[in-house]
Parts: sequence; C-alpha cells; structure tokens
Amino acid sequence: MKKINIAIDGPAGAGKSTVAKKVASALGYIYIDTGAMYRALAWKALHSNVDIQDGKALSSLLESTNVELVYSIEGNRIFVDNQEVTDDIRSSEVTASVSAVSAHAGVREQMVKKQQNLASNKGSVLDGRDIGTTVLPHAELKIFLTASVEERAKRRHYENVEKGRSSDLQMIMEDIQLRDSKDSSRKISPLVKAADAVEIDSTSNSAEDVAERICTLAEERIRMK
Ligand code: C5P
Repeated sequence: MKKINIAIDGPAGAGKSTVAKKVASALGYIYIDTGAMYRALAWKALHSNVDIQDGKALSSLLESTNVELVYSIEGNRIFVDNQEVTDDIRSSEVTASVSAVSAHAGVREQMVKKQQNLASNKGSVLDGRDIGTTVLPHAELKIFLTASVEERAKRRHYENVEKGRSSDLQMIMEDIQLRDSKDSSRKISPLVKAADAVEIDSTSNSAEDVAERICTLAEERIRMK
C-alpha cells in the first residue's frame, strides 16, 4: 500500500501527540515528536550552562549533540548523547525554556533537516508547530489541531496528576498562553495554520474521535495517490 506523510500542527496541549500516536499506530506509521527534539536541546543547554538566548552557542551545542528518537508504542523515547531524557524533558524548567531555544534560526535549520530526514521514507506522522508550513510543505495530509485554552490546560493538569507530578492548573494555563504567544510571534516558522491544512477543534471531541477522523482523511489521500 502507498504511504503518505501526515503533519499535525497546533498550539501547546491541543492533544497533538496523543492523537498522532493513535493515528500512527492505526496506520502502522512511525510517530515523530518534533517538540521533544527542541526540548532535548533545551535540556542539554540547561545542563551545560549555555545561555538560551545565545543562538550561536545553541547552534554549536546542537552540532555536537546526538539527539535520538526511539519509537515505542507509548511514544518516542528520547536520548541525548545516549542518556535517556524522556521524562526529564517534560520538567517545568525545560518547558519554560524551550520556546526561547526554538526561536533561533540556526537551531531551527538543523532541526528541520533532521526531521525531514526522519520522514524521508514516508509513512510518518509528525507533530509540531511548523510541520505543514516548513518541515513537510508537501505532506499529503496536514491537520491543524486546536482546543480552547481552558480545555488544554485541564488536560495537561490531569495528565500531570495521573503521572504523580505536582501540578497547578492556573500556572499551566499561564504557561500555555505564554508559549503559544512566543511560538506564534517568532520571526522564523511561527505557529500558523498552513493554507491547505484541515482544522480540527478537539475541545469537545475525544482523542479517539479525532484520530478516527484523521485516519479517514488519510485513507482518502492514500487512495488519491
Ligand atoms: O510539542 P511541545 O509542546 O513538546 O513543543 C515544545 C516546544 O518546542 C514548543 O513550545 C515550540 O517552542 C517548539 N517547537 C517548535 N517547532 C516544532 C515543535 C515544537 O518550535 N515543530
């Protein structure tokens, strides 16, 4: 069967990774969490005392860093220089720093190349902010997934509680709004809906329903190929 690439973009906490994992598993595709790659670099910068505002220093840090994504049913396991950081990159310190790290042109250039290589064989579902606009502008299916900020914050909060992490709903809401604003207003590859993306609002739909809708759209695009 012919394979396509699927781009899922949208603001923080819209459910992109949950939905992307379900779609990838239903279609037998590979899931690529591009946000985790930026988080991995932010984690490394914090641990190497590299200034997250210094684009040059971050670019050379990335050049000498091995960021590896290992696919598993639960999602991507992330390794930085062979050390597993899957959970560490979700810390509040990394979350607070990642938008500054991802705003630098030199960082984005390298990350985009890595992501394009990972998706070069088709049969991939990528989630992020600039997949449909910059990483895979010719992806056969592009989704822009949104949800109200209240709903997104609630989902993150319950996920934290479930995983036994400390969590404050109001702080999550503020973080999401700040990150959305930074990601949408940056100069290079800001978070915007690609002109040919299908917009899906997940506020009152379950991840299962959204994934099913995306799979139906994917099957249509595969037939059209
Ligand atoms: O998806 P996640 O929330 O883990 O992404 C973390 C951060 O990485 C985003 O807030 C954004 O700054 C950056 N990012 C990006 N481009 C992508 C994916 C993520 O700039 N394709």
